Amino acid sequence: MKVAKTPDEVRKIINGFRKTGEIIGFVPTMGDLHQGHLSLVKMALEKCDRVAVSIFINPKQFGPKEDYARYPRNEEKDQSILEELGCDLLFIPSVKDIYSTSGRTRVSVKDIPEHLCGLFRPGHFDGVALVVAKLFNIIAPDMAFFGQKDAQQAVVIQRMSADLNFPVRIFLGHTIREENGLALSSRNRYLDSSAKKRAASLYKSLSNAFRLIKMGERNPKEITARMKSIIESAGLEVEYSEIVNGKTMKAVGEVSGIVLMAVAARLGGVRLIDNIAARVENDRVEEVLLEFPEWSGYE
Ligand code: AMP
Repeated sequence: MKVAKTPDEVRKIINGFRKTGEIIGFVPTMGDLHQGHLSLVKMALEKCDRVAVSIFINPKQFGPKEDYARYPRNEEKDQSILEELGCDLLFIPSVKDIYSTSGRTRVSVKDIPEHLCGLFRPGHFDGVALVVAKLFNIIAPDMAFFGQKDAQQAVVIQRMSADLNFPVRIFLGHTIREENGLALSSRNRYLDSSAKKRAASLYKSLSNAFRLIKMGERNPKEITARMKSIIESAGLEVEYSEIVNGKTMKAVGEVSGIVLMAVAARLGGVRLIDNIAARVENDRVEEVLLEFPEWSGYE
């Protein structure tokens, strides 16, 4: 596996891959890799000839009171895991390599960030859109892989890359969970084992919502109230519990079409999110990924 620190080094390596017409897959991460990240890398390895992974803790997507400074960093271990998996290129830039002090350009997706996490993390999705646009320009992948775990992020990125004509096809991977349902996250490191048990209430609330929909409930208010109460009973502070349209992220008046059941809650100082997406057509209810290939600039 090649390791590159600067955009110039990456471009040289990628140009080498391109000369032989290889299909390039890309998995952006903030490191401290777990099975959720690795499932995306494995998916990329299956679909592409070469796979690039980036590890970059993007300061622009953290708010001033958020956990940028203490976000888990584990680069040596990450590097050896990726090497063993068969990844071809690891890009670990410094903040200076990505952001110059003279930078004045923003990338901002309208509307989608006005819901869910965007309401509680002002500027977060602008930071995500900017860094992903930069990484797409540096790596120029044919395919890029994101987790459904961060569903709103994935939708923002799909919209951004279609709107800016990035010739990249976006794929989503299923959320990988612990046995008790807790979605894997680098932030789970902040939780002890009793907190992890309580944190499983997020997934419990979503599974319960999915069951209610399967049983015919179509009123989002009934369902989101149940979701909230399940999480609160476990002693967490709920930030939101919503059912939204899978493309716009706007709360729905009736559960139908492609919907996302999404929750965010705080446990101690730790913010946790989770979701399940479903396609609801009359009596048919199935779990789906929020993947919209028709938005892609990829041909
Ligand atoms: P992060 O390092 O948290 O920025 O995540 C990098 C990528 O991994 C993003 O596309 C996430 O959505 C994805 N990801 C994070 N946790 C999981 C998980 N538990 N299952 C699947 N994908 C995940």
